[in-house]
Amino acid sequence: MRLKDKVALITGGGRGIGATTAFLFAEEGARVGIVDLREEGLKEVAAEATQKGFQFKTFVGDVSKKAEIEGVMESLVQELGRIDVLVNNAGIAISRPFLEKSVEDWVKTLEVNLIGVFLCSQAAAPYMLQQKSGKIINISSIRGIDHCGREGIMDYSASKGAVINLTKTMAKELAPYINVNTVAPGHTNTEMTKSLPEEVRRNMIEGSYLKRLAEPEDIARAILFLASNDADFITGQILLVDGGFSLK
Ligand code: NAD
Repeated sequence: MRLKDKVALITGGGRGIGATTAFLFAEEGARVGIVDLREEGLKEVAAEATQKGFQFKTFVGDVSKKAEIEGVMESLVQELGRIDVLVNNAGIAISRPFLEKSVEDWVKTLEVNLIGVFLCSQAAAPYMLQQKSGKIINISSIRGIDHCGREGIMDYSASKGAVINLTKTMAKELAPYINVNTVAPGHTNTEMTKSLPEEVRRNMIEGSYLKRLAEPEDIARAILFLASNDADFITGQILLVDGGFSLK
């Protein structure tokens, strides 16, 4: 029960890594809120939670809209009393070759993947500072690690690189009360990668030294570690969970 009585909010919790993290957090004793753009995803995850004996607070909201996220944070704190852990997990990737990439692709990607992290953290931080404790975990990607940016998603890669930089600055500015860290997943078996051509998925597996995609649970366990008291003296760090992909 590593998160006993902690209150956690997970963005993009309507499926994939976010939903898996929400279930793991609940199993570890946390009271969990999830926010997502897609109401049907929230309903499905909440129903599964109920079956497992948990009660999730669900919020329809867009991480890139300041007023919506401030409203979500206020409701969560009103209903559950506090916020101890924020997982900035919501993210999108729009695949298009460099010469066809549009300003709209860039703006949308940066709004969700980077400004969304900033806005959710800015909404949560005042509560955490008042409590004098809190943990923020930002989900980047191996594609955000210097030489690992990928063709077709250069805007995604740039946004994830910026999340690492933002994490380090937030860690300085919100110390000593809030620990801010990044998990950088390798290719993970979720909807985001299921839609890719089989050859691309095969290359992803071949590129990893551990010769498989990550399962969402692999990533969720790393997030749990950084959210728990085991990581109380860790801040401003990047935890790569990529089966060795970035070693190449
Ligand atoms: P996913 O697409 O399966 O789930 C993402 C969830 O975020 C969806 O439920 C979606 O509705 C929600 N979302 C999207 N935009 C939102 C917004 N503006 N506001 C609120 N919710 C929004 O993705 P995933 O594979 O579970 O990825 C989760 C995170 O991990 C993302 O940040 C992603 O970039 C990162 N990541 C994924 C992989 C991978 O291979 N799957 C690898 C590295 C990093």
